[in-house]
This record gives sequence, C-alpha cells and structure tokens, in this order.
Amino acid sequence: MQKTIGYAALQQNAPLTPFSFERRDLRATDVQIDILYCGVCHSDIHQTRNEWGGATFPIVPGHEIVGKVSKIGEAVTQFKVGDNVGVGCLVDSCRTCPDCEDHLEQFCNKASFTYNSPEKVTGVNNYGGYSKQIVVNHDFVLHISDKLNLAETAPLLCAGITTYSPLKHWNIGKGDKVGIVGLGGLGHMGLKFAHAFGAHVVLFTTTPAKAEDAKRLGADEVVISTNAENMQAHLGSFDFILNTVAAPHNLDDYTLLLKRDGVLCLVGVPDHPHASPTVSHLIFKRRSIVGSLIGGLKETQEMLDFCAEHGISSDIEIIPIQQINEAYQRVLKSDVKYRFVIDLASLEL
Ligand code: NAP
Ligand code: ZN
Ligand code: ZN
Repeated sequence: MQKTIGYAALQQNAPLTPFSFERRDLRATDVQIDILYCGVCHSDIHQTRNEWGGATFPIVPGHEIVGKVSKIGEAVTQFKVGDNVGVGCLVDSCRTCPDCEDHLEQFCNKASFTYNSPEKVTGVNNYGGYSKQIVVNHDFVLHISDKLNLAETAPLLCAGITTYSPLKHWNIGKGDKVGIVGLGGLGHMGLKFAHAFGAHVVLFTTTPAKAEDAKRLGADEVVISTNAENMQAHLGSFDFILNTVAAPHNLDDYTLLLKRDGVLCLVGVPDHPHASPTVSHLIFKRRSIVGSLIGGLKETQEMLDFCAEHGISSDIEIIPIQQINEAYQRVLKSDVKYRFVIDLASLEL
C-alpha cells in the first residue's frame, strides 16, 4: 500500500479536513495517476452531507480528476508514464452485463463509483480526487489531448459528459429549440454543447445577474424562471429541456413549455422529491419526463475528443484545497462561475 493525503468529510456535514490514507499497490491492469486538478461537483456536496442516504464515511470526494500517469501495471498498453489522463465518476464495472456490453457502464448494477462506493475486488470504500494520487483500472482512464488546458478539462469528466450524453441520446441538433435549466457547473456545459450541436438554446435561471454570461456561453435567449410572464411566452415551444437544478421545484413549469412529444430530461438529483408533475400536462401532448446519468467510458472519450477538436472547456475558478469549504458554501448559494477546480499543488504531502 502507498501512503497519500487528501481532504475528507470524516462524518456527515463535517467540514472537509486533511486526511491521510493509502492507495492500493498497482495490479497488472492499473494506472497510477498524480492528480493535478479536481473539479468540485454539486454531487460532492450532496454526498458529504449524506443527502442521498447510505453514505460511508470518511468520504474523500472528487470525480472530475485530471493528472499525469506516474506508473503503469505490466499489462497496461494504452497509457505510458507522463500521459495526460482523466478519471470521472466510474472506476470499475462487471464488463459482461448488457449495459457493459453496450458501453453504458454507468448503468451496470456492479459499477464501482470513484468515491463513496465499494472497490470491486476488495469491497473497501473508494476515495476520490481531492487527493494527490489515485490508482485506477486502465479501462476507466481517459486520454486527454495536449490541445486541452488541464484545469479547464477537469469538469468535463462529470459536468461535461452528464450534459453531452443526453443531448446526443435525444439527437439534439440544428432546428431544435433546447432549454437548459440552471446555470451552474452542469448548466454552463449544457449551454456550450447545445450551442455547438446547432440548437437554438434558451437558458432558464433564477439569477438575473447571470444573463450576460449565459449569452457568452452559448444561450440565444435567457429566461428568468421566477418571472411568470417570461415563462408564459415560451409555452408549448420546446423540443427538449435539460434540467440541472439541484433542488426540488415545480416540474410543471417546464413540462408546459414542451411541444407535442417534447422531452424534459432531469439530471439534477435533489435530496427530496419534486412535487409530482400534473399528468394531464403530459398526456395531452404526449410529453415525457426522463432522466440521464453521466455517460459510459466510450462516450466520455468521444466527448473529450469533441472538446479538443472544437475548443470547448469549462469556465472555472481555481482554488487551493484549503478553500474547499468556502467553495461549497458558494455553490450552495448558486454563486459559482461556473465550476470550482482544486489545484492539488496546494496540498503538501
Ligand atoms: P450547481 O453548480 O450548484 O448548479 C445548479 C444550478 O441550479 C445553480 O447554479 C442554480 O442556477 C440552479 N438552482 C439551484 N438551486 C435552485 C433552486 N432552488 N431553484 C431553481 N434553480 C436552482 O450544481 P451542478 O454541479 O451543476 O449539479 C447539479 C445537479 O446535478 C446536482 O443535483 C448534482 O448532484 C447533479 N448531477 C447529476 C449527474 C447525473 O449524472 N445525472 C451528474 C452530475 C451532477 P441559477 O442561478 O442559474 O438558477
Ligand atoms: Zn459530478
Ligand atoms: Zn456490467
């Protein structure tokens, strides 16, 4: 075992504090990564507060990991020492179920998540990317093009793929009117991808001060969602709405904006259920409410390559790890522009 250091929530709602722990010695198919940057996802906050239940403490959060390969196991052929690589929310899966065979490892019943989830072989709790190094099976490590800025790439590993995947799955492109709800980490990547795919993009926000940024990030129009008149103007007009809000709210406000056969896709995971949608809003126009979870490894690599080709990355605020608790408070106040990224050089062994 190899000693390393990170930041952990030692128990529910505890502020994150320095934490020493061990990573496993390399197996033949493992890649060891010196972590340079790690994005701060709202899911990190939900889990350190045990808002989804079932958390195992201590939790070292972080699943938007970017770094350099420092060591490889003897069976690893796709990576070499010094390569720029990424790790997202997944670190293992069964490889044989229908979901794994379809490259949709995120839906595998035996998927092992990057933290707050048991390691596949030993069952010990995984620790995430708010740390100096990590050891991951090579099948769950992504290549990062030299064209990409490493710090700005970290959020692509979760916020990026979580918005790219549903836009692709529902074939969003030219001629579609697409809504993005919430301008945070996921929302700002949703704007960039929907714009890049050629859709007409409308951002729904509760924060009027974000309107100007939204246009810069790819929105053709901005709607202040608390203004009923503003909302009414878009009734029955959307093909697809991607809802990234991290809190329970009235989904009817958005289903009513869909056209016949329109789709409201939920990716935000609030701690309490939304009020049920009004069924008649769905049946009279055959509208649907669906969900989507990150993306598989193949699609995550495709998304990273698309970003390198099209010059897409995340708009970030870099912080030293010592400021992580203040960053969490700002995310909770919707005051994030538009993803915090931890510079792990700030963490001394
Ligand atoms: P975030 O950076 O905090 O952004 C969420 C945005 O939602 C806020 O900036 C705010 O935008 C809006 N918002 C917050 N509270 C609201 C409220 N009460 N009513 C209306 N709008 C509100 O969070 P994130 O990191 O993007 O994550 C968003 C959610 O997605 C979280 O629940 C997270 O756990 C989940 N998630 C899901 C997946 C998946 O695979 N499905 C992956 C990653 C994250 P405005 O100021 O513009 O209103
Ligand atoms: Zn995430
Ligand atoms: Zn599987």
